[in-house]
Amino acid sequence: MTTYAQIFENNKKWLAEKIGEDADFLKKLSRDQHPDYLYIGCSDSRVPANEIMGLEPGEVFVHRNVANLVNNIDLNVMSVINYAVEHLKVKHIVVCGHYSCGGVKAAMTPKDMGILNPWLRNIRDVYRLHQAELDAITDEHKRYDRLVELNVQEQCVNIIKTAVVQKSYIANNYPTVHGWVFDLETGLLKDLNIDFVETLHKIQKIYDLTGELANHLNK
Ligand SMILES: [Zn+2]
Repeated sequence: MTTYAQIFENNKKWLAEKIGEDADFLKKLSRDQHPDYLYIGCSDSRVPANEIMGLEPGEVFVHRNVANLVNNIDLNVMSVINYAVEHLKVKHIVVCGHYSCGGVKAAMTPKDMGILNPWLRNIRDVYRLHQAELDAITDEHKRYDRLVELNVQEQCVNIIKTAVVQKSYIANNYPTVHGWVFDLETGLLKDLNIDFVETLHKIQKIYDLTGELANHLNK
């Protein structure tokens, strides 16, 4: 295990390496941030956002929680999305789940989990929305993998339902929303190829918060 003191040594080593690669590293780091990406991922320690994307400090705005959920009444994630879209003007929002997600696994078990209940309910609801497809998968591990993917997909839809994303898309043609799954066994990212525009079409009748989505999409 890395000791507590070692972390500060690591930090100095990291800084020396960064300055070695780019003498202006600190000058750039202390300037304003202009990331093109907002990444919403799981808190799982094995899925480090910057590293798996190969992005440097300043290139991705990150929010992580248990099982990468985007809940409409979670002030934390909603603040992150609003800030990233309105002020940072990110071009892409990514929801990144991962196979072997403990949060998703817990939601597949019908059991009282105390304070986790309301959080896991979001994933149980994803299961209910896709119950026919999931129950048809007899292999439990494959069903678990598929729920990880469907959970990512539904969180993408939740982002597309927000006013801030709809308004920005109408005005600027960005951001677009993407769903990914990180595979811990291969180390690779899988793009679920969520069709952003098609999803906007599908949800607009009920979730258009701008009153202009239908017009904009039919242009
Ligand atoms: Zn997870």
